Amino acid sequence: MVERFLEGRGAVITGGASGLGRGIALAYAERGANLVLVDINEELLEKTSKEITQISGQKVIPIVCDVSNSDQVKAMAKQAFSELDNVFVLNNNAGISINYGKDLLKVYEKMWDQMMSVNLKGQWIVAKAFGRKMRTQKIEPIAGKMIHTASLAGMVVDAMTPVYSLTKVGIIAMVKLLAQSLAPKVTVNSLSPGYHFTPIYLNRELMKTIMDEGHVKTPLNRLGTIDDVVNVSLFLASPASNFITGHNFPVDGGVGEVGSPANYLITDI
Ligand code: NAD
Repeated sequence: MVERFLEGRGAVITGGASGLGRGIALAYAERGANLVLVDINEELLEKTSKEITQISGQKVIPIVCDVSNSDQVKAMAKQAFSELDNVFVLNNNAGISINYGKDLLKVYEKMWDQMMSVNLKGQWIVAKAFGRKMRTQKIEPIAGKMIHTASLAGMVVDAMTPVYSLTKVGIIAMVKLLAQSLAPKVTVNSLSPGYHFTPIYLNRELMKTIMDEGHVKTPLNRLGTIDDVVNVSLFLASPASNFITGHNFPVDGGVGEVGSPANYLITDI
């Protein structure tokens, strides 16, 4: 998908400084979009924004914002609408993963609150700050597209990351509700990555531990890449997906259906 189908369109990407968000942002810019990149990590956000402008030649506005803080999100949305001609794509992607290995009954309340407020409440308040205005944009036939990053852990709950799983189950459910609220002008879908090495895993050792302890084998016999996720995000941002709303798209190499934990395939990654 190489055409510049986002020419004249604005895109907002939360968690855009790093990992999947950075990859998605660059791909949108290369398709002609001007961007607002949102992240809590100011230094990385500045760096990524400059890199994307240099590579793509598109306008990239960095906005430092904690997506779990509704005042900051309201201010960020106001600035985004004033910097961009429109917000055609909202990529609700920022997320954290902490507390690997904690039994749900042993999770500290503080950890629960932190995960819920960034991953689930954060995506809700961002959707709330943008949704109604996106719906009124004079862009035909679809006025805007919301794309949420959920997770394989929201499709198959993972006992080793219980609160993270709950936040992602919530996102997949929330997408169905938002799709109803914003129909017929704005489509709302989620994508669910599987195991893609990005900074959220801190290091490859932790990722390997998580996969070993969860008996995870990917039928397609490799880890996911950032591009695997980018390609689905491009599809959801493109006219090719104009008749799709309220759905979740796994990008997991088949793990969710056949790789974990029901089938242990005897292959190494
Ligand atoms: P990442 O850590 O590289 O990127 C996450 C970004 O979100 C970071 O830049 C971080 O600074 C930002 N962020 C964190 N808290 C924030 C906050 N409160 N406000 C604003 N920004 C904040 O990780 P990633 O793998 O690119 O994760 C992106 C999304 O993909 C997350 O929602 C994550 O749960 C999801 N995901 C990732 C994988 C994977 O394999 N990497 C799998 C499933 C789902």
